[in-house]
Amino acid sequence: MKRLLQRLQITSRRFNCTFHASKPDNLPTTILKNPTNEEQIIKISQLPQSSILSISDYFSGNSTHLHHVFYSNLIHNKSKKALKTEKKKFIDLKIIKFTSGNGGNGSISFFKDNLKSFGPPDGGDGGNGGNIYINVVDKNLNSLHYLNKKYIAKNGEGGKGGQLDGKNGDDIIIDIPLGTIIRWIPDPIEFKKHIQNKEGDSLEDTYMELALINDKIQLRREGYKPGEGWLYKENDLEYYNQKDFFQELNVKVSKYDEEIEYEESQQDQFPLFGLDCDQITTKPMLFLKGGKGGLGNMHFLTSNIRNPKFCKVGRLGITENFLLELKLIADLGLIGLPNAGKSSLLRAISNAKPRVGHWEFTTLQPTIGTIQHRIDSLPFTVADIPGIIKGASQNKGMGLDFLRHIERSGGMCFVVSLESEDPTADLELLVEEVGPKRMRDKNVLVVATKADLSNEGENFKTLKEHIEMKYKDWKIVPVCAPKGENIDRCLQLMSELAEKGRK
Ligand code: GDP
Ligand code: MG
Repeated sequence: MKRLLQRLQITSRRFNCTFHASKPDNLPTTILKNPTNEEQIIKISQLPQSSILSISDYFSGNSTHLHHVFYSNLIHNKSKKALKTEKKKFIDLKIIKFTSGNGGNGSISFFKDNLKSFGPPDGGDGGNGGNIYINVVDKNLNSLHYLNKKYIAKNGEGGKGGQLDGKNGDDIIIDIPLGTIIRWIPDPIEFKKHIQNKEGDSLEDTYMELALINDKIQLRREGYKPGEGWLYKENDLEYYNQKDFFQELNVKVSKYDEEIEYEESQQDQFPLFGLDCDQITTKPMLFLKGGKGGLGNMHFLTSNIRNPKFCKVGRLGITENFLLELKLIADLGLIGLPNAGKSSLLRAISNAKPRVGHWEFTTLQPTIGTIQHRIDSLPFTVADIPGIIKGASQNKGMGLDFLRHIERSGGMCFVVSLESEDPTADLELLVEEVGPKRMRDKNVLVVATKADLSNEGENFKTLKEHIEMKYKDWKIVPVCAPKGENIDRCLQLMSELAEKGRK
């Protein structure tokens, strides 16, 4: 049993978390009781909410739906042809590995001229490692396909004699489309290895132990501890460790190291529930900071150290994986109870292929379809979003995540099934959950689906009368999506709605 547990727990130095395959009873209870501070046990499926679910789908081999987009993204080396077709595809999920640069080492050098054979130390500092910045832009970027799988910022160069500091590593600035959510995730390769070792347990049972500070994940940066990280010329560590002058110096330098380490730890924090890029940035935002360059020997000249033949190495950069999820801002959002027929409708009206099923919450993520109704009309986008349920505005079901989408849409399509016992009540529930604030100034179309299953149009009649009475400027259209009935009329009304929403 013990061996089994050992096998199931992976702690990697490259990792800032530990995995547990089953509920970790053997862990100190303080960990579980202390939810906001320090180490916390988190279920994998809870981590970056819905998105980590898609990671689990991915790792347990469910490659249908949008998830396989980053499946292929991750593991397979794609052929040129595959890459070409991918470019055309809409990609809204992508795992990207970011690495900031290492700092350059300091230099050990002494001033030389014709008169003095041995001058004061003049070794400069190493350059700082390149940072990674992100820019949130709104350039009609509606897919993440253009982003690379990896971004690696340059390392800083070493310091030089003559008090010359090394060149800083070049920064990388990455444009991220407005509406993207960036979430930290464990290294997918390591994670996959872990899942493969698990033998049959469900992913639900996988727990993760993370270093957390409030709602921030403490990212892990390798590097030397305060007082370490010296580079020596001629003599070695053992030699200097015996010297009082060096010990004294090292106490001071350790303080400096601690300060840097503290700065790093402040910088290396990332929101547990992700960074929502919902505002355009006016200047690039620091994402991962490069390592600081090491001190050159010119800093270590003291009254009793005349010729310091040592310097400091550079601090390391940081490597982390993030899941980018693009939440598009569609012209129209389809809003309906689970199973109302939203996905079927989107399939019928566009080229999008959302998953259709007769169980609730088939749609865990929005799917966007682009629709060109007529050659002379502007194309518009429609989002199929997870079904709304009673209490969604209190974060039940897919909750607020989903409602955020509606805020961003120009118009709303309420999708109500005529198969339901009381479509009018369904509509009212939707109106209530969306709330007056989100409804303000929005144009609304009610699409009554499953017209084929309606009791001789009785339900439709009641619903229509209700709308005409209560919501004068709303329109209503009955359709049967799988058979394509009345879809043209529906498209016409949607196109008008999208047009109005743009104004
Ligand atoms: P969603 O949860 O709102 O996205 O609903 P889906 O589009 O996944 O549809 C739920 C179920 O209703 C599926 O089994 C569909 O085949 C079925 N369905 C959707 N539209 C119609 C319709 O117009 N007529 C009939 N008979 N069935 C429909
Ligand atoms: Mg659906």
